[in-house]
Amino acid sequence: MQAICVKRVLLYAGKLGANGNVRQKLSGMRAAVCRKPNCGYSCRMTKAADSDLVRLASEVRGCTICGDLPLGPRPIFQIHSKARILIAGQAPGRITHHKDRPFDDPSGERLRAWMGIDRDIFYDASKVAIVPMGLCFPGTGKSGDFAPRAECAPAWRAKILARMPGIACTLVIGRYALDWHIEPPKKASLASIVQDWKTHAPGLWPMPHPSPRNNRWLKVNPWFEEEVLPALRGRVRELL
Ligand code: SF4
Repeated sequence: MQAICVKRVLLYAGKLGANGNVRQKLSGMRAAVCRKPNCGYSCRMTKAADSDLVRLASEVRGCTICGDLPLGPRPIFQIHSKARILIAGQAPGRITHHKDRPFDDPSGERLRAWMGIDRDIFYDASKVAIVPMGLCFPGTGKSGDFAPRAECAPAWRAKILARMPGIACTLVIGRYALDWHIEPPKKASLASIVQDWKTHAPGLWPMPHPSPRNNRWLKVNPWFEEEVLPALRGRVRELL
């Protein structure tokens, strides 16, 4: 087997390089061979966990479980066996589907500001993993995007998360992610769940979506930016 740079392979598994401009479909091990001039092909894939994650990423990218997606399957995620921080969101939107890159929009700008990190760190899969509840764009209805596909989390989520044992801080964004990671009472409001953040931190951080559509929520809940975000930034700093 040809020598492979583990770091690059896993960045490709996330489809994004640390500088944000490396993109490559992972259609198999050969597609993930590092071609960086300075790499030197000097390191080999020695950890079973790493190769396992690469295999899984390839499997997920070939997923066609949901045969009726309006734009077809395009799982969008960023994973690495060494990631310490996980962003657990809802599902890619239409723009993200076309860009093939998560949070490359005003929501992402706000999320990065909330975390106190720049784009280079955010898109470095060895630091930040991004795994939404539904990995493909689910389509749009009259009142916005549809819910994440119900088939997705049971098929992939536990398998992916099990291969990132170093995750020590999960930003839990939106009702579907909250139900999976935190299981709040069914009738609990978002504000009450987020306000209870100390119960879950430092491992889990219930959050509102950073979308500009949530400006009003942020305005009526100023404690979130005043109290929660400084603590979150501190936790992120500890792990980077
Ligand atoms: S949403 Fe999930 S289960 Fe459905 S096709 Fe995409 S990756 Fe597969």
